Amino acid sequence: MADLEGVVAADGSGLSPKLPAVRPDLAALDGYHSAQVDVEVRLNTNESPMPPPPGWQEALSAAIGSIEFNRYPDREATALRTALAASHGVGVDQIFCANGSNEVLQSLLLAYGGPGRTAALFEPTYTLHRHIARITGTPVAAGPRQDDFSLDLEVVGGVLADAGPTITFLCSPNNPSGRADSSDEILLVAGMVPGLLVVDEAYGQFAPSSALDLRRKDPAGTRHIAVVRTFSKTWSMAGARLGYLVADPEVVRACELVALPYHLDAVKQRAGRLALDYAAEMNERVAAIVVERERIGAVLADLPVETWPSDANFLLFRPNSKDAGAVWADLVSGSVLVRDCSKWPGVTGCLRVTVGLPEENDRFLAALTESLR
Ligand SMILES: *Cc1c(COP(=O)(O)O)cnc(C)c1O
Repeated sequence: MADLEGVVAADGSGLSPKLPAVRPDLAALDGYHSAQVDVEVRLNTNESPMPPPPGWQEALSAAIGSIEFNRYPDREATALRTALAASHGVGVDQIFCANGSNEVLQSLLLAYGGPGRTAALFEPTYTLHRHIARITGTPVAAGPRQDDFSLDLEVVGGVLADAGPTITFLCSPNNPSGRADSSDEILLVAGMVPGLLVVDEAYGQFAPSSALDLRRKDPAGTRHIAVVRTFSKTWSMAGARLGYLVADPEVVRACELVALPYHLDAVKQRAGRLALDYAAEMNERVAAIVVERERIGAVLADLPVETWPSDANFLLFRPNSKDAGAVWADLVSGSVLVRDCSKWPGVTGCLRVTVGLPEENDRFLAALTESLR
């Protein structure tokens, strides 16, 4: 202690600490964020416009009263995983849960990616696949999709042959295009990947088919297909942060290896478990959103914008006559917020609108019509 006297005062004021630089591979990384402007109509992050069913809210309130908050939660999230497994007709050892599907993706990349390994993806696609890969130090190999946003299987084959990825990502229905890859396409890619094929089905409830069906039909031949789902969109539970993986037990164990102990809090475990009692309400909401989506699509078809068919709860469009940034700003002036994707790879000049409540969609369509006039 004597040595420090005269160097550091008792209050530490003699110290001149320097913070270390962040990892050099992170320094160039832009944070991922959707502009959160204060508007009346928020159609930018593909959430459900409807609150969860009142019955669920009441059941959750009651359940919270019986939680022993002085104790750590069930580390294995047994009740939640058992219920999810039953809902998909799989074993509980095929389910891994995390704080949103983004954390599922991060777990997969921590377990199977990292320096010296590669993740492959096909753009345009969910920008967080690339972002989380980079955070986990996983190099990314990317190939383009075709103009209609379908997979170009020659490009896919080339990227996979060159990069030899341990993880290949598909997103179906794809964000931001809205297009679902067919089961045949997914099977063809599954036949080519040298590692894991992760199918992000955040909008799976809107799609005509699921990679889960492929896993069910041929469990042995598809054990390298891992399907990611979330409660954030169709389940109206973005605020709860809950997502999960349906995969081979070996993949589930790999994700458990990298998960922090007790990473799923007790409230979330109850919330997710109880939500599954309201699957019928969830399906009704999906149907209602599809009706609105088709209505918006029909109006867009008559405006000077290019649009694409969607299998999800959002629509991508590209203004023909006006710069996308200017249209985005006009919409904000009308208190309507959509997603500006105009700088994302493969969707230059495009905007993405989430299907909202009918009156919100009316506001959007009126503001867009006005902007393009
Ligand atoms: C919204 C979205 C998610 C959801 O992430 P959470 O962490 O579950 O909220 C995942 N994947 C895609 C493609 C999405 O669009």
